[in-house]
Amino acid sequence: MSRHWTDSGRPSRRVFLARLTTIVTAPAVIVACRDTDPAEVPDRARVPDDEISDDGPSPAADDPRPALPGSEPLVRVRVRKVRQPATRIEIGRPGEWIALRTPGDEEAPDRANATSARPGRGPTTVVLHGPVAISQRTGGWSILDARGFRPTVDGMELIELSLAEAADGVDLEVDGHSYPGFVQLVGRGGSGADGYDVVNHVALESYLPGVVAGELYRHWHPSTFAAQAVAARSYACAERSYRGHSHYDLTNTQRSQVYEGTTEHERALESARLTRGVVLAHDGRLVPGYYSACCGGRAANAVDAFGMHPFNDVAPLRGRRPLDVCVKAPLFDWRIERPHDEVVTRLVAYGRRRENEALKNLRRVRAIDVHEVNEHGRPVSYAIASGAGADPVVLGAESLRSAVDYADASLPRPAKRLWSAAMAVTIDGTTVRFDGHGHGHGVGMCQHGAETLARDSKSFEAILEWYYPGVNVVRAYV
Ligand SMILES: [Zn+2]
Repeated sequence: MSRHWTDSGRPSRRVFLARLTTIVTAPAVIVACRDTDPAEVPDRARVPDDEISDDGPSPAADDPRPALPGSEPLVRVRVRKVRQPATRIEIGRPGEWIALRTPGDEEAPDRANATSARPGRGPTTVVLHGPVAISQRTGGWSILDARGFRPTVDGMELIELSLAEAADGVDLEVDGHSYPGFVQLVGRGGSGADGYDVVNHVALESYLPGVVAGELYRHWHPSTFAAQAVAARSYACAERSYRGHSHYDLTNTQRSQVYEGTTEHERALESARLTRGVVLAHDGRLVPGYYSACCGGRAANAVDAFGMHPFNDVAPLRGRRPLDVCVKAPLFDWRIERPHDEVVTRLVAYGRRRENEALKNLRRVRAIDVHEVNEHGRPVSYAIASGAGADPVVLGAESLRSAVDYADASLPRPAKRLWSAAMAVTIDGTTVRFDGHGHGHGVGMCQHGAETLARDSKSFEAILEWYYPGVNVVRAYV
């Protein structure tokens, strides 16, 4: 719970709902209108395309790279993936008023099941007694408030829940976790049988402390926290700019950014306050602030790790020379061994999944050699030799890592997954040995290296300039 939190960046819908509850004392259906003053609500469609460009030449209007945010945006974070429809989640605490809003058909996500929607339904709001228990049943949602009231929202793919009364330092509780902002529950299909996602809609500056607290060791240096806040803000803004087709922008795992929800960690809160609105920019455009735990000494290029895309093909994401300063990180060097047959099984299964003919037909692996390195000496592709006169199979470094760790319904996850794709592979009899460096993709900021620089009195700006060469650290909004 963020008792210290005084930021006002919460969606104004809460204010609106607080007003509603002054006239409602029992569960009742309310004719709802859309939000209050549009200027108060960060809206995906209203964020200017072409904002602040004080760090270089004006960007071209048709530049596919993301624009700098002109004001604090709202981000959508998937915080729970429910795949068993009967799974019940509880929203709110005893004694709280919880507003349940059905947005109406016009706000349904693109992926809504059009056949189940009754055209023309407008938004409605019901105020319920917390905690509210919610699950799915065939045809819709099962909703039960603390006093036994069951509102009917049949056929709605999406429902929204928030605290009906705004109160400083109190956020919405979802199954024991507290989140700033409000949540949407989004069904995965029209039948109510496919499970649903819980998506936290939260103002960016209220989201960031929960990311920084989740991503770093609590005792790390304030400059590391500040650098992390800027990288995470830049990453979130970039993800948001090209995830419009989905019902969420980010998840709360390491695949995206770890997010704890509401946090009381003072250093995390302070890092967001100190860097409010500050992002990474290059040529007037936003730089996605990729980062990983430890680069292992040699940086990866974003294009090699994530694919050729104008977002990724910028100088600050090509890594820096010379070797990084993260040598004391626990996973700077690591070794993992696997039985040869297991490696072959996973490569073949990966080949089937990806329809890679050469991998699908693999019988044995005689060698896995580095095929190509980037300008910093980090492997970007590997050649898998099977012998018997066949040509080696060349795989990108991250693809090899995915293939060696491949798991599916019939193939359980390996006991130890590879920590990174920067490694040397030795085949010794029936054992395949991976001697690797670092933890994560190695693009952009290296968290362990950032901590080393911070302990060496470097500012958060200097840390960011080290990891994103040529970047401009700019305040995009106040
Ligand atoms: Zn590093």
